[in-house]
Amino acid sequence: MNYDAIVIGGGPAGSTAAATLALKGRKVVLLEKEKFPRYHIGESLLPYGYFTMERIGVLDKMKKSAFTKKYSVQFVSPDGRASVPFYFHTHLQHEAAQTWQVLRSEFDQLMLDNAREKGVVVHEETTVREGIWENGAVVGVKAVSKDGSTTEFRAPITIDATGRDAFFISRSGWKIRDPYLDKIAVWTYYKGAKRDSGYDEGATTVAYVPEKGWFWYIPLAGDIVSVGVVAEKTYLYKTSKDLKEIFDQQVEQNVWIKDHLAVGEQIGPYRVTGEYSYRSRHCGAQGLILTGDAFAFLDPVFSSGVFLALYSGEMGANFADACLTDNDFSASRFVKYGTELCKSIESMRALVYAFYDHNFSFREYLKEFPTMKGDVTDCLIGNLLHDFQPMYDGMSKHAKLPEPLKHGAPLLQEETVSVQG
Ligand SMILES: Cc1cc2nc3c(=O)[nH]c(=O)nc-3n(C[C@H](O)[C@H](O)[C@H](O)COP(=O)(O)OP(=O)(O)OC[C@H]3O[C@@H](n4cnc5c(N)ncnc54)[C@H](O)[C@@H]3O)c2cc1C
Repeated sequence: MNYDAIVIGGGPAGSTAAATLALKGRKVVLLEKEKFPRYHIGESLLPYGYFTMERIGVLDKMKKSAFTKKYSVQFVSPDGRASVPFYFHTHLQHEAAQTWQVLRSEFDQLMLDNAREKGVVVHEETTVREGIWENGAVVGVKAVSKDGSTTEFRAPITIDATGRDAFFISRSGWKIRDPYLDKIAVWTYYKGAKRDSGYDEGATTVAYVPEKGWFWYIPLAGDIVSVGVVAEKTYLYKTSKDLKEIFDQQVEQNVWIKDHLAVGEQIGPYRVTGEYSYRSRHCGAQGLILTGDAFAFLDPVFSSGVFLALYSGEMGANFADACLTDNDFSASRFVKYGTELCKSIESMRALVYAFYDHNFSFREYLKEFPTMKGDVTDCLIGNLLHDFQPMYDGMSKHAKLPEPLKHGAPLLQEETVSVQG
């Protein structure tokens, strides 16, 4: 079957890319291995996701949804003291300043349905098993459907949006882990746990585990709270391999978390994920663009994942559309895509490094450099498209900030192609 574009994966990156292309009149097929709705972690959105959601036509559905409204983030020290909530509207005078805490099964379903409504042909329970490479270019994929049959899909451009499965990264040996951000997360859900009322009800709380890591506390609809701890594997697994024991031990490390969970009832399984931050050696190749977690994953402390999925999904689709217009799918066309995406990720990455540096405190930093509050806020709300050098300059006095990673450019034709589908 021939299409203008193939999108692999129906998470936020894939459904955004597919809807963006369909809105431009392109013939798109999206292949998703699961049957939706399906469980996924990554529930807290950032304000700047609003603009992509508006362009692909899901904003009204979001506004009508039962998802918890999120206006702020707060930080809680190990002794239980909460910072003043960090309200997005103080920096962004736009209705985008209110975002959402979402149940991903429902959010991803809404996004995938939207892609369908825009004309995308969606095949669920269809797993891509092989990329078809011809003369150094990706020209399609082979996918297996639920009944076991294999279908070959062909298109001049393929968008990989397979999340942390990272289809092309893993088959091509392109995964490069972040040397420092090697954390894992253990999480679960509580019903009836303590939450603020009114405006502050939907705030994300980031609660520190002394010198080791942090908890997220994300109030969802239906009186459910998503709560998880992130730290180094050696620390979390030090005395037990049992996820419940690990989680309960860490709850004791923060009075605020302990107090808030005490009145609730734990529900569902305890979950774990490893293999934290990474970025692909390449953002694409001839006929191929990588988006969302299929390109890079950054420690989720500032809830950047879904935002970066929306952002790269839309940007990747715009680059794909330009290729279709010019009938030129060469890798060099994705240099700018890689540069812009990496620059945005680096802004967040520097902030994540500062967060984990024991010598650094955001409160002290902003006391010393009050004019930088706007830049820090821009990062936290997802407004990543400007020069953050002045912010880094001040931060690097107290925190060891990372050098920007050098990889992430497309695989150019003249480079050796030792990649099999
Ligand atoms: C512990 C943790 C906490 C997080 N918290 C947050 C948060 O609070 N806020 C936030 O914004 N982000 C958070 N994230 C990150 C967020 O989960 C991801 O960044 C986001 O889901 C990326 O979207 P995506 O579309 O790239 O990938 P995904 O959402 O993973 O979607 C990929 C899709 O591809 C499908 N797929 C995979 N392989 C194939 C194949 N071979 N064939 C067909 N289909 C395939 C999968 O089934 C899946 O549906 C968190 C992540 C972790 C690990």
